[in-house]
Amino acid sequence: MPDTPELNRILDAILAPEPDARELAALPLPPSYRAVTVHKDETEMFAGLSRREKDPRKSLHVEEVPVPELGPGEALVAVLASSVNYNTVWSSIFEPLATFGFLERYGRLSGLARRHDLPYHVLGSDLAGVVLRTGPGVNRWRPGDEVVAHCLSVELESAEGHGDTMLDPEQRIWGFETNFGGLAEIALVKANQLMPKPAHLTWEEAASLGLVNSTAYRQLVSGNGARMKQGDNVLIWGATGGLGAHATQLALAGGANPVCVVSSPQKAEICRRMGAEAIIDRVAEDYRFWSDEHTQNPREWKRFGRQIRELTGGEDVDIVFEHPGRETFGASVYVTRKGGTVVTCASTSGFEHVYDNRYLWMSLKRIIGTHFANYREAWEANRLVVKGKIHPTLSRCYPMEEVGQAVYDVHHNLHQGKVGVLTLAPRSGLGVRDAELRERHVHAINRFRVPE
Ligand code: NAP
Repeated sequence: MPDTPELNRILDAILAPEPDARELAALPLPPSYRAVTVHKDETEMFAGLSRREKDPRKSLHVEEVPVPELGPGEALVAVLASSVNYNTVWSSIFEPLATFGFLERYGRLSGLARRHDLPYHVLGSDLAGVVLRTGPGVNRWRPGDEVVAHCLSVELESAEGHGDTMLDPEQRIWGFETNFGGLAEIALVKANQLMPKPAHLTWEEAASLGLVNSTAYRQLVSGNGARMKQGDNVLIWGATGGLGAHATQLALAGGANPVCVVSSPQKAEICRRMGAEAIIDRVAEDYRFWSDEHTQNPREWKRFGRQIRELTGGEDVDIVFEHPGRETFGASVYVTRKGGTVVTCASTSGFEHVYDNRYLWMSLKRIIGTHFANYREAWEANRLVVKGKIHPTLSRCYPMEEVGQAVYDVHHNLHQGKVGVLTLAPRSGLGVRDAELRERHVHAINRFRVPE
């Protein structure tokens, strides 16, 4: 239950059987709200420890912080649920660097941006909730609107950002490179981050998709990514993880053939339930792409390629959906078909990739770098959810007080699918507004729900 009477009244209004937008708009805002933060004076707390030893349960705080001033083009949103993304793992272990540098740099941009440069950082890049207030210049959204927010924050004062807003020089990821993120009871977003909440989903289901679904959509489907088409063979690393489970769904929904790589029989079963047939358990097969820290083993790349061909009827993959990085990148470049594409958005296992360039240039392959998604791409990805073509892959849902454990699970790859966090929602299962649509998709929703 929220700590302030104002927020309790707001929550009651949201949870009413028929919420009244005008009543909500008239309710006073609280002076403060509970949020998940890291502290600037603690960024050295893990100095000297290995990455695995850095424990988010020690660095993450749940505390009361003041409600920020609302600026032009912005909205304050009551957050019912959020989710854990890998960027919160990075923020909580202060790797590869502490996020306060991002906030300081942003703070130098303008008077309004200065609000973000604080000794605490409210994290989180997903939310499902209800608009409480909008700033000057916001016409499309109103208090009472039920929304999800994508995490692209842009200024668009420069010409560079007007073709593809991801190219705006002041492009930032909300709740990672900006403050006032979604792991909180209230969030501050730009109005052009808002999108309609899928009416057939619960708050926590709706909050679980935004970042990973939009990223996977740009990476795999968009003209800015790999331009996947019907019939393509798509190798998907971490196919039940946040990104991978959505890439698998996008491949299946788009008529492509996902080749799913996972690390356990349980995860292989999740892929089967999603509808995938070609599945590789990298642990059971004991792939060792590196002989030691400095030397890769091309024989293992070849063995991997042979297994892929066995699963595809002799074909190589048109696209590799890359994000593990250093450990897998050499293999990814090798197994891509002649003229095919490796598309990468991350380097979970290490930023310095090593691959044999002969397999790239002689076989005319391409490597594409990609990052989150622009508003249009995020909107198109959300539209697929609204239409019931892509489903949440939520497994566990934690109360906000246990966010440290939630982030720890993702850090140590103990999770399946997406991990949710209840912020204002008093329990899971709330927020479905279109019961008929839910009924229509309930079979698929249950099939995609990942066992804890
Ligand atoms: P996740 O839920 O933890 O899933 C990642 C999966 O990758 C794991 O479940 C694991 O699956 C697999 N994996 C991890 N290490 C591996 C390795 N060494 N070799 C092979 N597979 C490995 O995380 P996520 O949300 O999908 O994010 C993945 C990465 O993408 C993170 O680094 C994140 O920061 C980044 N990311 C970037 C963007 C962007 O916009 N640039 C957006 C979202 C995420 P198995 O154990 O089953 O194989």
